[in-house]
Amino acid sequence: MENIRVLVRVRPLNYRETHLGANACVSTSGNSITLDNKKEYTYDHVLGSDSTQEQVFQKIGNSTLQSFLDGLNCCVFAYGQTGAGKTYTMQGKGFDDITSDCIHIGLQPRLIQQLFKELPKENNWTIKCTYLEIYNEQLIDLLNDAKPMPLTIREDAKRVYVENLTEIAAASFNDVISLMQRGLANRHVSATQMNLESSRSHSIFTLQLELRTKGMYTRKSKLNFVDLAGSERQKLTAATGDRLKEASNINKSLTVLGLVINSLAENPKKFIPYRDSKLTFLLRESLGGNSKTFMIATISAASSSFQETLGTLKFASRAK
Ligand code: ADP
Ligand code: MG
Repeated sequence: MENIRVLVRVRPLNYRETHLGANACVSTSGNSITLDNKKEYTYDHVLGSDSTQEQVFQKIGNSTLQSFLDGLNCCVFAYGQTGAGKTYTMQGKGFDDITSDCIHIGLQPRLIQQLFKELPKENNWTIKCTYLEIYNEQLIDLLNDAKPMPLTIREDAKRVYVENLTEIAAASFNDVISLMQRGLANRHVSATQMNLESSRSHSIFTLQLELRTKGMYTRKSKLNFVDLAGSERQKLTAATGDRLKEASNINKSLTVLGLVINSLAENPKKFIPYRDSKLTFLLRESLGGNSKTFMIATISAASSSFQETLGTLKFASRAK
């Protein structure tokens, strides 16, 4: 599809997987991935298990930034099972620690750093940030430390927006990093039977740019970084009550995202079911129409994740 591009990134086996006897079942060559020496899948970009954070930025960071500066709404979202590398690829580690090695810094801080280098010196711009979480189909404002009531999505003639969502202006890279940290501290993570710290919520960090050009003309664009909840099939047998409700709501947003991407790929002029989940309704202006979207699909190379990896590769294939 024209306005959705796909990058698949493989993460290397970790100590636990190796210890439990898993093998690597994924190999890459050019823009193709071969699973278990059988089926081959091709994407816009493929990065193997030895890929660096800088390579991710080179592949998609620069072009996303240029589109954003050109006035397009942009969206980068990370899809994949828990532990496959979504947060590592998007945020990475060490951006808040000057003593740490910067090789682990992810796409989002790299792109924001470059953004502040490229913004015009004339100070004819403003950047505002919002950070929200969709948890159990409820919207939570991550920049409001007081934890208020869940927020409501509204729509007027011009746009879709979240009522009362905190918007904070940022004038520098450091300002944005502070906001990211503030939001991360408020993120909802819960212990589950599957993982000690499994991410069951979707988070959306948004930069809004207003660029005032000479003829009094203002250009507005948005850049969304979306870290999706784990795509693994929820083990419903082990889930009861709130957990069960949570599981089906998490699948709902991901399922609808898949449907929306499918419909856009088939025929963008057709009816697109954006309204069927909070996630797709919010991202409507950044998924269809005059926008640019990158899906980063993250997979583990381990044979023990074969089924989930297959699911992620198929999901990513539908977006092409
Ligand atoms: P997710 O957000 O998809 O649940 P994480 O990004 O938290 O997964 O990654 C799980 C673990 O694997 C983290 O410790 C992370 O540092 C590590 N990791 C993820 N991707 C890579 C990679 N490409 N190279 C090296 N380590 C990685
Ligand atoms: Mg994560």
